[in-house]
Amino acid sequence: MFDKVLIANRGEIALRILRACREMGIKAVAVHSTADNDAMHVRLADETICIGPPAAKDSYLNPSAILTAAAIAHVDAIHPGYGFLSENADFAAMVEEHGFSFIGPSADHIRLMGDKIAAKQAVKEAGIPVVPGSDGALADAEDARAAADAIGYPVLIKATAGGGGRGMQVVRDADGVKEAYDLARAEAKAAFSSDEVYMEKYLEKPRHIEVQVLADLHGNVVHLGERDCSLQRRHQKLLEEAPSPALNEAQRQSIGDKVVNAIKKLGYRSAGTVEFLFEDGEFYFIEMNTRLQVEHPVTEMICGLDLVREMIRVAEGKPLNFKQSDVTFTGHSIECRINAENSETFQPSPGTVGVYHAPGGLGVRVDSGLYSGYSVPPHYDSMIAKLIVHGANRNECLMRLRRALSEYVIDGLDTTIPLHQSLMNEADFVNGEYDIHWLQKYVDGTKPKT
Ligand code: ADP
Repeated sequence: MFDKVLIANRGEIALRILRACREMGIKAVAVHSTADNDAMHVRLADETICIGPPAAKDSYLNPSAILTAAAIAHVDAIHPGYGFLSENADFAAMVEEHGFSFIGPSADHIRLMGDKIAAKQAVKEAGIPVVPGSDGALADAEDARAAADAIGYPVLIKATAGGGGRGMQVVRDADGVKEAYDLARAEAKAAFSSDEVYMEKYLEKPRHIEVQVLADLHGNVVHLGERDCSLQRRHQKLLEEAPSPALNEAQRQSIGDKVVNAIKKLGYRSAGTVEFLFEDGEFYFIEMNTRLQVEHPVTEMICGLDLVREMIRVAEGKPLNFKQSDVTFTGHSIECRINAENSETFQPSPGTVGVYHAPGGLGVRVDSGLYSGYSVPPHYDSMIAKLIVHGANRNECLMRLRRALSEYVIDGLDTTIPLHQSLMNEADFVNGEYDIHWLQKYVDGTKPKT
């Protein structure tokens, strides 16, 4: 049993982890930058340690500051949350080398899945369908041209070390290959310090569907169904739902079984998400996230499970105390990501929150560290809250979400709430008929509004 856990993160996810710790009787240590002195998770923590100035590279991305804090506080384990160091294999290894448990997968699995070419190869061998693409990295523009000709246009050039939707270039015809290849490499170099790129068939109208898994150290693996995260702007998810309106029961079971088998073969532990594009009834693996995801609550709402608690139990060495046949899906859940951004221009809007009123009532959950008088610092990601709603079915969920959005008051900042409100009235969204390009067209104004 862990007595004390250090949370190597900030914002709503730090609070989320703190809440799980508290329910389990585990003391929570918050590490924070000077910009987060007044953050809610810092206020509520059992112990707090300031680890540096506002810049993330000097605080939340500084392994030695975090490990020093862990040693000073005598913690048993570290939960990395998402973002920051959560998918940094060297950090996970360092945590364990210093005698702490890492609440997540092994460093080797993080490393494997962080290399998208190696990840694709590994899951393919484990029986998961992948997007057709180049055999490994592209050597040069000529190699790219040959690969594109073989795959068939359009194609997508992606960064091997990619993340956050950066370093991707669509190529529509042979003439565009060289320019896209050079651009993708330059972007990848700038964002990930590696200019290695690979190529995939560009799917024109897929949905983004991901399968949540949970695995312990004793060979037990379960899947917790899927989430549909097709509503994206610039490859960033804005709204997620579970189950996906596009899947039938047979498809759900089939992809769930394939994922469970593959995860068993790979010997993976902890929570993870296997991401797919889904088009014309077929699944195509794109990547695996070896961490807790922002959108995990929609899965929790339909499964009645606490994923953070399960991650902590697995890290303690305990076996999962339920089997696949015990997992049942009840009703429907949708999460709206609320960002401190103008809902039309998407300009960040940090600042001080005036009146704050979070919605409540049956089936409504708000994961957020916001409070009246809190100043949203400009140094970090703009997501300030997640509104998660559960209903007996998708229709009830939508009714509840409209109601909850109308109650939410966050004065003093621009937020994406108006965008979510307008989405609720869009026929395509209401009917569950949208692909990964739908939202981008909608916000660009190229999608006729209903
Ligand atoms: P990242 O790690 O940068 O998030 P992903 O591989 O997960 O990269 O892809 C992010 C998003 O980019 C996907 O959700 C999808 O919208 C789009 N995308 C990725 N691969 C393809 C593809 N082969 N065809 C069409 N869209 C894609």
